[in-house]
Amino acid sequence: MVRKPFIAGNWKMNMDLQSSIDLASGIAHGLGASEACEVAVCPPSVYLAAVVKAVAGNPVGVGAQNCYFERDGAFTGELSASMVSNIGCQYVILGHSERRSIFGESDADVNKKVFAALEAGLTPIVCVGELLEEREAGRTLDVIRTQFEGSLAGLSSDQMQHCVIAYEPVWAIGTGKVATPDQAEEVHASIRGLLTSSFDQATAESVRIQYGGSVKPDNASELLSQPNIDGALVGGASLKTDSFLAIVKAAN
Ligand code: PEP
Repeated sequence: MVRKPFIAGNWKMNMDLQSSIDLASGIAHGLGASEACEVAVCPPSVYLAAVVKAVAGNPVGVGAQNCYFERDGAFTGELSASMVSNIGCQYVILGHSERRSIFGESDADVNKKVFAALEAGLTPIVCVGELLEEREAGRTLDVIRTQFEGSLAGLSSDQMQHCVIAYEPVWAIGTGKVATPDQAEEVHASIRGLLTSSFDQATAESVRIQYGGSVKPDNASELLSQPNIDGALVGGASLKTDSFLAIVKAAN
């Protein structure tokens, strides 16, 4: 099965309203009519509606960087998955390492959010990744397995096929230290194996697994040419039209 590459930009807590609109429009206008890959931007939540409007009619999806798992109610400061969907988003990033390490999100929290996102019709981009000390201790694949099993527990094959997984080694995020193509491919192949053993072959062949962690225009092609790397979740390099479009071009 051919998996359509998927490049998503995680803007994190950057930009202001006008620069968000400008960046989103720049990306929308810079894309060719028949991109061979799927493209999305994930701005801060207060700019989501404006960015949805800025890219309307263009092949650029919009995603939130997080959502809460409850449908509605007394959860001050939170956004439900249906709110994110209701304003025109298609994606939500869940379990990003910054959510896990700074805000204490557990695999169980991420799992509840995945179900909420799917119920709202969103495509969850579920992040997993090991810390430097875990890699150095030779525990990378164990850590990934634990996060995978906890974050994706209880999904049917059909639900799993509506998710995207992002492998983001924590030591490579925002550090400029990118995983080598071999290091990344090893983990992607093991995630593909987990998809087969926990779900089935068809699911394993259809789920996209993005790599994230210091992806830049000059390293994107080599990473994206690995057999199990189906796209990228891009932080820093997604904040400039030219560098983000160059990564999209590498995926095409
Ligand atoms: C990220 O935050 O998901 C990320 C991969 O960041 P960067 O590309 O800046 O390492």
